Amino acid sequence: MYDRFKRKINYLRISVTDRCNLRCEYCMPAEGIKMLPHDDILSFDEIAEVTRVAVSMGVDKVRITGGEPLVRKGIVNLVKMLSDIEGIKDLAMTTNGMLLTKFAQPLANAGLHRVNISLDTLNPETYQKITRLGKLKDALSGIAAAKKAGLCPVKLNCVVKKSADEPDAKQVKAFAEEQGLQVRFIPQMNLETGEFGIVDGGDGGNCKICNRLRLTSNGNIMPCLFSDLVYNVRELGAKEAILKALGNKPRSGSVNSMSHFNNIGG
Ligand code: SF4
Repeated sequence: MYDRFKRKINYLRISVTDRCNLRCEYCMPAEGIKMLPHDDILSFDEIAEVTRVAVSMGVDKVRITGGEPLVRKGIVNLVKMLSDIEGIKDLAMTTNGMLLTKFAQPLANAGLHRVNISLDTLNPETYQKITRLGKLKDALSGIAAAKKAGLCPVKLNCVVKKSADEPDAKQVKAFAEEQGLQVRFIPQMNLETGEFGIVDGGDGGNCKICNRLRLTSNGNIMPCLFSDLVYNVRELGAKEAILKALGNKPRSGSVNSMSHFNNIGG
């Protein structure tokens, strides 16, 4: 499918929960954020149905995000349901890695192709400060488990204040090269002020070639991360919500005053 700016839209990012086991300072306040009511959260059957419809309309790349997707109970079953959908060429997940030691092999067995793991620093104190609740050693053992399980490629998502020339980013890059991993440098974003940049090592944030739609955990199809436009699949049905999002996808992002990263999945 194509939007009105002739961009090919073939990528669906699915946030399966707004909950997370970390409190990263650039994503959530320390006290956390009011969570979505449980009844508002899409069931696995609903997520699979929206994905099936999206695939029938041209999506072939799907990424599972959160919050932290691995805190969603039964996540391995959802991966199996999505991997059974014919037409998905690329099934990936973005995770903070805290629970990956436990889940990497079951996810690979269920059909997940690859993972992106958040890693902003190799300094344990800085890691603790940024994530507020995480331990660097858990992220590192999660990375090792993902490689061992054959998830490939394993990419590191490194959030930077401005650029990959920052000391922590350089250390993450050296670690990635040493470990045979790919790394993407993501400039810090601010939804309310509309600050965002192009992902170094990826294609996020490049509006000219934007190929994505997002499904939030409470069923909103979002045409753009930096926009307040949402179309709810429970109200409109999956096809109508996707068509409306496609038809109203902005040429480029502006601001998002309604959502938080934890319920969009970046
Ligand atoms: S800001 Fe919107 S249009 Fe630009 S890359 Fe992000 S999602 Fe696509």
